[in-house]
Amino acid sequence: MNNLSSKQLQGIGMTSQRTRDRLIDRLQQRGITNSRVLEVMRNTPRHLFVDEALSHRAYEDTALPIGYGQTISQPFIVALMTQMLLESGTPSSVLEIGTGCGYQTAILAQLIAHVYSVERIGSLHQQARKRLAELRLYNVELRHTDGNAGWQGSSIQFDRIIMTAACKDVPRKLADQLNDGGEMILPYDDGSSQVLMRITRQGDDYETEAFDAVSFVPLLPGTV
Ligand code: SAH
Repeated sequence: MNNLSSKQLQGIGMTSQRTRDRLIDRLQQRGITNSRVLEVMRNTPRHLFVDEALSHRAYEDTALPIGYGQTISQPFIVALMTQMLLESGTPSSVLEIGTGCGYQTAILAQLIAHVYSVERIGSLHQQARKRLAELRLYNVELRHTDGNAGWQGSSIQFDRIIMTAACKDVPRKLADQLNDGGEMILPYDDGSSQVLMRITRQGDDYETEAFDAVSFVPLLPGTV
């Protein structure tokens, strides 16, 4: 687990700090109560995860384009999913499906000891790797691979899995990589709308609960 040093936050300027505080106020108004999540989001420079031309909008509570037809998730949704991941206690490991620009990954890396994240688009994977190294978030392992199969080639199991792309069928291989008692948070697409879903593994049983309506890019097969 890491904290960003004050040096890494330099150069952001007072205006951005005020803007960022306003974003945190908004997250609180919308029901984010976990103070650790709020603090980490206050201190994470979201503008470094978007193109410079969009950096003036980085602290708006909105998704923004990151190229390749993909988006950086809306801060409220990042906060909500992270809060849900921590609700039943702090996990020691989490697997993220859909690294994208790496913003959600950076938030997780400051709250959870071991973070694993996979991305199917090679250029996004490379950019995220660079950003997370610049922020000195070293407790993250990234892979360029299709997350439908989860974290392949080792017997590692996860306390939590977070999917940041919407799926119509929950990949079985992913559910199998949850520890007993582990939880997966994902946007589930029923064909007409998407909802956040929590799946809890109890032995060979999987309990599902549905939450807020959301809007994510789709989970796609293969790598590019
Ligand atoms: N976590 C990101 C959200 C990125 S958008 C954030 O913090 O903003 C979702 C990402 O999921 C996209 O980059 C997309 O390419 C990726 N994705 C879609 N299907 C995937 C798959 N099967 N395996 C891995 N990544 C996938």
